[in-house]
Amino acid sequence: MLKDQTAIVTGGSRGIGRAICLELARQGADIALVYAGNTAAAEETAEACRALGVKAQCYQCDVADFEAVKAVVAQIKADFGGVQILVNNAGVTRDGLLAAMKQSDFDAVIDTNLKGAFHFIRHVTPIMMRARFGRIVNISSVSGLMGNAGQANYSASKAGVIGLTKATARELAARNVTCNAVAPGFIATDMTRALVEKNQDAITASIPLGRVGAPEDVAQAVSFLVSPAAAYITGEVLRVDGGMAM
Ligand code: NAP
Repeated sequence: MLKDQTAIVTGGSRGIGRAICLELARQGADIALVYAGNTAAAEETAEACRALGVKAQCYQCDVADFEAVKAVVAQIKADFGGVQILVNNAGVTRDGLLAAMKQSDFDAVIDTNLKGAFHFIRHVTPIMMRARFGRIVNISSVSGLMGNAGQANYSASKAGVIGLTKATARELAARNVTCNAVAPGFIATDMTRALVEKNQDAITASIPLGRVGAPEDVAQAVSFLVSPAAAYITGEVLRVDGGMAM
């Protein structure tokens, strides 16, 4: 279904991003995997994509660095010939109560989660606009919809991603570039492992479907939003949260 398309997936080495890489590869897309520092995990994911019969290559790049993103997008375009799909998934947390939150912890989360998405959109959309085709999915969070105590920085970054998604959707619709967001709830990854282990009962009690999500639950939603079936959907925020934030 996604044959002859190239997908950039940021944060593709682990967790939700890894599942997105594998699902898009299963659909036939070639994968440009962007990661921060975990080369072994990135290479393992790329190898698993190649085993599905597609091209896959890893790019180490800090999404928070505007110039580094510019260079990596140019390299990916040279390596793959074009970019049809962009999934802005790289993200971090630096949790803490507002009263004690360091400026550096606020900035680090905004720089990676919100500005990182802007950097890739900024550098990839000229390619998509010229081709008059593009599918962008930004990974937000239910924290950006509801706010979460102890996550002022993270909630602000993820709410910002929703505004960025809608503005991008409006600006690029005339060029046949769609831009949507996916807002996961609790998903079992490195990011949430410690929290989920400590508060298992309270967390599952807060989820109507009664379980923590799997990375594949999010990957399926992303796969739908970049597929031909979603051609008429743009500016949408799709919750994948077991009903948590309804
Ligand atoms: P994770 O397991 O901690 O993985 C984070 C990924 O982002 C890794 O691939 C990491 O690369 C990459 N990354 C982090 N900082 C980066 C940077 N500055 N530049 C480039 N890559 C960077 O996280 P996850 O749980 O899969 O989360 C993925 C996304 O979903 C995030 O945006 C997160 O906010 C969002 N989300 C997660 C949940 C959840 O419950 N897990 C819920 C809602 C939303 P390395 O491997 O190289 O470190």
